[in-house]
Amino acid sequence: MLIVQKYGGTSVGTLERIEAVADRVARAKKDGNDIVVVVSAMSGVTNQLVEYGEHFSKVPNAVAMDMLLSSGEQVTTALLTIALNEKGIETVGLTGAMAKIYTDSVHTKARIEEIDTSRIKSELERGRVVVVAGFQGVDENGDITTLGRGGSDLSAVAVAGALKADLCEIYTDVDGVYTTDPRIEKKAKKLERISYEEMLELASAGAKVLQNRSVELAKKLNVKLVTRSSFNDNEGTLITGEDNIMEAVLVSGIALDKNQARVTLRGVVDKPGIAAEIFTTLAKENVNVDMIIQNVGHDGTTNLGFTVPQNELEIARRAMDKLQAAKHIEFNDAIVKVSVVGVGMKSHSGVACLAFETLAREGINIQMISTSEIKLSMIVDQKYGELAVRVLHDAYKLDA
Ligand code: ADP
Ligand code: ASP
Ligand code: MG
Repeated sequence: MLIVQKYGGTSVGTLERIEAVADRVARAKKDGNDIVVVVSAMSGVTNQLVEYGEHFSKVPNAVAMDMLLSSGEQVTTALLTIALNEKGIETVGLTGAMAKIYTDSVHTKARIEEIDTSRIKSELERGRVVVVAGFQGVDENGDITTLGRGGSDLSAVAVAGALKADLCEIYTDVDGVYTTDPRIEKKAKKLERISYEEMLELASAGAKVLQNRSVELAKKLNVKLVTRSSFNDNEGTLITGEDNIMEAVLVSGIALDKNQARVTLRGVVDKPGIAAEIFTTLAKENVNVDMIIQNVGHDGTTNLGFTVPQNELEIARRAMDKLQAAKHIEFNDAIVKVSVVGVGMKSHSGVACLAFETLAREGINIQMISTSEIKLSMIVDQKYGELAVRVLHDAYKLDA
C-alpha cells in the first residue's frame, strides 16, 4: 500500500516524540508499504513565530511572514529524516518547494494549485521514505507560501490525492473525531465513522481536529481519510462518503470556534450598493466574512453586523476605517461561535429550537444565528462558549 501519514504538532512536540514517530513510520515501512510522511512544526512553534512577526508590526508583511512561519515545519522534516536514517530506513526530507507543491500567491493562506509528483515518486521508486514539510508550498515567483493555520492536514490530503495513495492517516493527540472537543466535554464519544459533509461542517465550525479545506479536498479527490492518535494503537475515525454511514443520526457533533470577532456598523446609509461596497472592500483584503446580519432600515440608515476570524480583525478594522461607510463602528473579539451539526437537520424540524431553548435556560444570550442544511451556528459571549458546548452536548444526548 501507499500510505500518507501526517503527524501534528503534539505528535512531534519533543525529540522523544519525533523518535516515537520515527519508530511508527519504520514499522509501516517494514510492513512493506510505501510511505510519505507529512509533518507539522513542533507544538507551540508556529504560535511563537507569529508572535515574533507581530512584535514588529500589527499587520506584518505577508511574504516575509510566510518565510518565517514555514521554518517550523522545515525543522521537524529535517529531524525526522535524521532519526529515520539513523534507524536504517533510507529517507529524504523535502520542503514544500522541493516537493513541488505549487500554490497561488495569497500569502499566509495560499491555495494549492498543483502538485508535480515527479520528485516524490522518484524518491519512492528508490525505496525511500519521503518526509514532506506540511503547511507550505511555493508560488510562481518562487516565494514560499503557507496554507493557513492547521494547513498541514491539507498538505497531507493534497499529496495523498496527487499520488492516488491508498490511505491518508492523520495522526494527532486524540483518538479520532469526537461528538465534541473531548478537552471541553469529558463525556464526548469517539465516532467510528463520519461523512465528509458533516466533518466539513464541524471543521468549518472550529473543530480543529481536521482543517476544513483538507476535508473538502478529501471529498473531492475521494481520499480515504482516517484520524487517529500517535500516542496509542487505538482505531481512529474513518471520514467517508455518506453512503458508507449506516444510519443517519439527527445531530453528530457540537463545535466551538474561538477565533471569531464581530464587526457592527451603525448608521450605514440604506441605499443599493452599500453592502457590495463593504464586502468587496473586505474581499479585496482577503478577509473571510462568515455570518452577516442586516437590520430593516429606519430613517434612511441601517445597522449591519458581520463576523470575521479574530486574526483578520485588524485588517478588517483598517479597511472599514478607510471606507467610512458607517457613523459608528464597533469591534468585539470577546465572542465565540457554537455550532450544532447533523445530517438529520435536513429532514427534521425542531432541531434548532432545542438549541435555542437550551441556551435560554442557561441564560446565554444569542447574538447572531445562521443556518445551513446541516448546521446551526450561534454567536455568544466568549465566557459562555464552553458552557454552551456542554449543555448542547447534553441536550442532544450525544453521550448516549
Ligand atoms: P494537530 O497538532 O495534531 O494537528 P490539533 O490541535 O490541530 O492537532 O487538533 C487536535 C485537537 O482538536 C484535539 O486535541 C482536540 O482538543 C481538538 N478538537 C476539537 N474538536 C474536536 C472533535 N470534535 N474531536 C476531536 N478533537 C477535537
Ligand atoms: N504548524 C501550522 C500551524 O500550527 C500548521 C499545522 O500544524 O497544521 O498552524
Ligand atoms: Mg491541526
